[in-house]
Amino acid sequence: MRPLIVANWKMHKNRAQAIEWVCQLTHLHKQQPTAARMVLCPPFALLEILRPFCDETIALGGQDCHPEEEGAYTGDTSAMLLADLDCRFVVLGHSERRAAHHENNEQVARKAQQAQKQGLCPIICIGETRKQRDSGHALDALKQQAQESTHGISGNYVMAYEPIWAIGSGTTPQPQDIDDVAQAVNAHLNHQPATFLYGGSVTDKNARDFVASGIYRGLLVGGQSLDAQRFYAIAQACCNP
Ligand code: PEP
Repeated sequence: MRPLIVANWKMHKNRAQAIEWVCQLTHLHKQQPTAARMVLCPPFALLEILRPFCDETIALGGQDCHPEEEGAYTGDTSAMLLADLDCRFVVLGHSERRAAHHENNEQVARKAQQAQKQGLCPIICIGETRKQRDSGHALDALKQQAQESTHGISGNYVMAYEPIWAIGSGTTPQPQDIDDVAQAVNAHLNHQPATFLYGGSVTDKNARDFVASGIYRGLLVGGQSLDAQRFYAIAQACCNP
């Protein structure tokens, strides 16, 4: 299975910067082709101009979608529109959305159902807080989050384990710890994900460590995905674990 390497640009870049990034990535791929499947999740407004650059090597994804198909939801984006824009994936339940937009597990599950209805593959994020980790409650919290956030979904999906304390902090868990999480969560779920991704302060230096055991088949990359060369180096590192 090809490693799945997802770039989450969050609320970064304008049109010129987005095109520069994707041209750089295409150039790097021509010079030294990667076996990885890369997914680019830019801000919604950049999807249309990035469409012509996407193919089997780099696919497009949204950073969120609404649980309803259509309606009076000012400022929201539908899974139906993401699919119409050739997106193949959508990131759901990212900790920044759970915190800043008060999204709960039930809403994430409804979004995932809608995404699947529109033919998108949901990338469902779970992650524990520093407090949960320090108090020894991380695994219980993660199992509950995973179960509730996937409630009612039946098709293919990806689960991204992103410890909240590792995101953007430069601090990462031990590879053995993340493997234990994936195994415990998997055993707890009725409907397992097609694959697990790890996310949180991934760089081209540590990328290989997270996929070395084969339990994680890819990575969700935030900060380091803003630079095409660094992102490509992460993708390449995962192809030779
Ligand atoms: C993220 O926010 O999904 C993420 C993984 O960020 P970073 O790589 O910057 O820690």
